[in-house]
Amino acid sequence: MLNPALAIVTSALMSLILTALLGSLLRSGMPGVSDWFASNLMMVVSLPLVLLRGQISDVLSVVVANQLMALAAVMYYAGCAHFLRRPVRWPVLIGALIALSAALVYWRYVVNSIPVRVLVTALFSTAMCIAVAVLVARHRPAGRSAYPYWATATMALAFGACQAARGVYFMTLDGTSNILMFASTWSVVLLAIAAAIMPTLSMAAMMMVHDALLSDARDAAERDFLTGALSRKGFEAAVQRLSGRALSQDVPLSLLIVDLDHFKAINDTFGHAGGDAVLREFVRCAGLQLRRGDVLGRMGGEEFAVLLAGAQPGDALQFAERLRCAVNAEPVTTGSGPCRYSISGGIATWQAGDTLDRVNVRADAALYEAKRSGRNRICVHQEQRAANEPPAQETDQGLAIS
Ligand code: GH3
Ligand code: MG
Ligand code: MG
Repeated sequence: MLNPALAIVTSALMSLILTALLGSLLRSGMPGVSDWFASNLMMVVSLPLVLLRGQISDVLSVVVANQLMALAAVMYYAGCAHFLRRPVRWPVLIGALIALSAALVYWRYVVNSIPVRVLVTALFSTAMCIAVAVLVARHRPAGRSAYPYWATATMALAFGACQAARGVYFMTLDGTSNILMFASTWSVVLLAIAAAIMPTLSMAAMMMVHDALLSDARDAAERDFLTGALSRKGFEAAVQRLSGRALSQDVPLSLLIVDLDHFKAINDTFGHAGGDAVLREFVRCAGLQLRRGDVLGRMGGEEFAVLLAGAQPGDALQFAERLRCAVNAEPVTTGSGPCRYSISGGIATWQAGDTLDRVNVRADAALYEAKRSGRNRICVHQEQRAANEPPAQETDQGLAIS
């Protein structure tokens, strides 16, 4: 036997459990979690009020309970917006809440109509579900698994459609407004679906939080905190991934190792914070030069590596020279005044059977030569040039080691 009370009790228990689970995520500091927590807490308070219909005043069981549920929907939406770092349109949301409250009071105390009350609350819920679906689908974070976001948007849309159907269904019921209207089979089925909305969407929210936490953890391991470039670990993982694919498709691949010149003197003159500013600025400057598919990593201290996809030694030398000139052109603003600096670089290109370690050794040897022959220059490893006749073009400062 279908029972509306059963659906409400189940929903209240699920909301209680989800409040506890979201509460455990509060300390993550993830935007949105506190809104989702508050939203479930409101469901935990409002659902028993609905259950006590007929035993307590309708002010509580009809007006306050429905207002709380509407506020819970608004808080859920606000949680999604905060989580995705989007603005929340509070004036629109508060206006909608006030209009809903007025409608509830009107269709309870001026004209007592259960179907219209259900229609109004169901349409409010439909609108919130659609708003959540559009927000999450449009603003899902780039470069992350799309699954949790599309799953949330799809569920929100499906629930929104069920809520619209519930509102329309109640309008088709004949007779005077009677609490027995809630006991018909379709009414209970649609109520059970409505009762599942907040728990299900809260689980979807936790799925999005889980994805964000995983992504943050990966970033912490694979990104350098100071400059935002890939860490050595992240760079090596990216090279393993990309080099296998490139070499199997006969796409050339070059490695450029860059070391900032006289960096110890920069630290001594401009302080450690000044040195940090130079490192950050170098990464910003290099990022502007990178093409799609290129990868930049900080190998340690003031040494960086760039994986240049599709680049023969000549292309890599051109890229490195552009970067060297860009670095020379722009002094970095530090707390102790403008700082001019230069870079030296070594280039090696993958050959059949090469590993990152072997290419790294050759690029390092070229870098050593650039340092030895005066700094502020780029060298291409000699074997590379022999293997890639005609030799890479020499620029004013770029030369091969001999
Ligand atoms: P060269 O031209 O031969 O490369 O000389 P250099 O002074 O750049 O090289 P050296 O290896 O002597 O000094 C590197 C300095 O980089 C020493 C170290 O204190 C500094 N350093 C390493 N990591 C950081 C960092 O994260 N921030 C700052 N500010 N300095 C760093
Ligand atoms: Mg150096
Ligand atoms: Mg160094």
